[in-house]
Amino acid sequence: MAKKGKLAIGVDLGGTSLYAAVVDTETGQIYGQAKRKARAELGAVGVTKRVVKTVERAILRSGVKRKRLIGVGVGVPGPIDAEGGLVIRLTNLGPTWDGFPLAQTLERRLKLPVVIENDVNVGAVGEHCFGAGRGASDMVALFVGTGLGGGVILDGKLRTGFRGSAGEVGHMLLRADGDPCGCGEHGHAEAYASRTAIERSIRKAIAAGEPSMLAETIEVEGRPLLTSKYIQRAYEAGDAVAVNAIRSAQYYLGLLIADCVNLLDPEAVVVGGGVLERMGDAYLEPVRGYARQHFLNKHAMETVRIVAAELGDSSGAVGAAVQAVRRLTDGA
Ligand SMILES: [Zn+2]
Repeated sequence: MAKKGKLAIGVDLGGTSLYAAVVDTETGQIYGQAKRKARAELGAVGVTKRVVKTVERAILRSGVKRKRLIGVGVGVPGPIDAEGGLVIRLTNLGPTWDGFPLAQTLERRLKLPVVIENDVNVGAVGEHCFGAGRGASDMVALFVGTGLGGGVILDGKLRTGFRGSAGEVGHMLLRADGDPCGCGEHGHAEAYASRTAIERSIRKAIAAGEPSMLAETIEVEGRPLLTSKYIQRAYEAGDAVAVNAIRSAQYYLGLLIADCVNLLDPEAVVVGGGVLERMGDAYLEPVRGYARQHFLNKHAMETVRIVAAELGDSSGAVGAAVQAVRRLTDGA
């Protein structure tokens, strides 16, 4: 296969696994990839060594010569200082990451330029370039999983904001003094529309004595068994507790999308993450309705595309590679 485009490596650094891919950043084609466990207990230095090995393996498998690679982009699950190449904090990976010079450490070992960016932001870039947001000038991406993250593309480019923290849509306030959010505050979108929120509603209803087929799966010998699979099964069986919990999450996701549309009036809102991957596009149908009810401008409102993400797990790595090429070649 001819490999003519601008090639770069995209890395998705997750709390449980590491993924690296050699990506043609003009077509989105992946030439070689590698995956391994993150092993967060090894700390920043240990996990970074594993990132190096994962990247080396992806290069080897791609058959691409190192000199053809423009650089490496890494999507990091938390706030970062892109200019300084520093991780600010990674709550899920432990305190050794506070202020860790990730870009510099990887550059020294890989002998390639390294760019770091927030994982959700690069996911947005991936979906914009090669996924559900293709062709949109302005786009918002929302990723609904354990948490709720987002990224903003304006004029075709990722907007990271004045201090690098734009796009934190999961922490937009939907209900003052509402339910607790993963960030420690209250009433944020994540507290109402994430998978964690769905689980919490289900537990609450069961604790209040509402009958549900999920009552028995909630805990076995202290271990939670309330997985997405069980929730989906109960939802499809018409279990009232599951249906209500999901309906509530869809309602709040709709409100959040309406907030984003009223602020930016984008052409597309792309929704991805674990919940969407499992439930599919059907999950979005009621969400579209709730969102449109709250659009301020109701003119031609169905032309604002509210669509499911297309790239699944690879959006982060693909977007990270694209972002690396953009930063390293045109300073975007
Ligand atoms: Zn929050």
